[in-house]
Amino acid sequence: MTSIPFKLPRVGTTIFTTMSALATELNAVNLGQGFPDFPMDKRLSDAVARAMDNQFNQYAPMAGWLPLREILAEKIGSLYKSTVNPDTEITITPGGTYAIYTALTTILLPGDEVIVLEPAYDSYVPNIEVNGGKAVLVPMNLEDLSINWPAVRAAVTPKTKAIIINSPHNPTGAILGEHDIRELRSIVEQHDLFIISDEVYEHLIYDGKEHQSMLRYPDLLARSFVCFSFGKVFHCTGWKLGYCVAPAALMKEFRKIHQFNCFSCHTPSQVGIAEFLQDRESYLSLNAFLQQKRDYFITLMQQTRFTLKPSYGSYFICAGYEAISSEPDIDFALRVTREFGVATIPVSAFYQYGTTGKLIRFCFAKKQETLEKAVQQLTRL
Ligand code: PMP
Ligand code: GLN
Repeated sequence: MTSIPFKLPRVGTTIFTTMSALATELNAVNLGQGFPDFPMDKRLSDAVARAMDNQFNQYAPMAGWLPLREILAEKIGSLYKSTVNPDTEITITPGGTYAIYTALTTILLPGDEVIVLEPAYDSYVPNIEVNGGKAVLVPMNLEDLSINWPAVRAAVTPKTKAIIINSPHNPTGAILGEHDIRELRSIVEQHDLFIISDEVYEHLIYDGKEHQSMLRYPDLLARSFVCFSFGKVFHCTGWKLGYCVAPAALMKEFRKIHQFNCFSCHTPSQVGIAEFLQDRESYLSLNAFLQQKRDYFITLMQQTRFTLKPSYGSYFICAGYEAISSEPDIDFALRVTREFGVATIPVSAFYQYGTTGKLIRFCFAKKQETLEKAVQQLTRL
């Protein structure tokens, strides 16, 4: 029989699947996998239902429903003062993960290297490797959630093709500042690198901070694939819909991959989102809504022995458990799920070769009573 080619030999089932399955099996409170447990905005689900009733049920154009791309271009113009052509520079994708995968597939040739800052969202490295590339891993500084730019610079080789940036960051909630943009600019210009910018938490950024999107900087955008997720922003992660913004020449190549992979995305959702986005409050209100949840969770957690790190954005906040246990984080997270009924994500899962750090990630995008129930159980630790 033909031997099976193991294209991703080091990869197993993702930690998100494992922890969610365990939470369901044990009926534990799930603060692990990043998804909200509160209802999404009914105006949006109504708009999608209306689109179905109005017979928007056939294939959308390959690049996406044009009115959706147009309203996104308008939003980008008003938020980031950037002019993006909806015809040639935006493509609607089945989720942010797919946009990142397609961007990497567009640019990578076998042997190319991509710089990945760890901890990193778990799809990046397999996406690089399945395309014959090599991930060059650079650790972030978890003490102050900063990027070690001298280490990034030292990781560049003649084979480096791109760097993946993620702000707001999963799992830490770190965000890029202006200083990071200056460092990034100097490295990508000097070495002529592409940027894959994962901005799925664009509208979940707190304390009045500004999102440092690549879309703000024409020189950076000129070498970027900027990836977004409607699922994360509109609390419907199961919809798996997002988009990628890139300059026309890059987008032309991106679409060549996309058109033979999924071709086009769910039409009624695109029609509904295009309508919903006309109300700017639909996304401008999200920062305050999620910040309140972050702050409530931080207050509740003061009753426990966890030491919370800061979180400036995303659905997530990390916490140290040195005062509670010396177990490795995976063992600790599994035990807390089994014995204390709260599922979380061990931060070592965001490293290719693990870490010895004693950190777990909590998702605070939950109903008030879910957070209360979880913390009540965690106070027993
Ligand atoms: N990037 C990061 C950092 C994420 O946390 C997620 C959420 N799963 C994604 C990308 C992908 O989003 P989507 O579900 O739209 O594929
Ligand atoms: N982005 C989500 C998280 O970090 C998980 C998505 C997934 O399960 N792949 O929890």
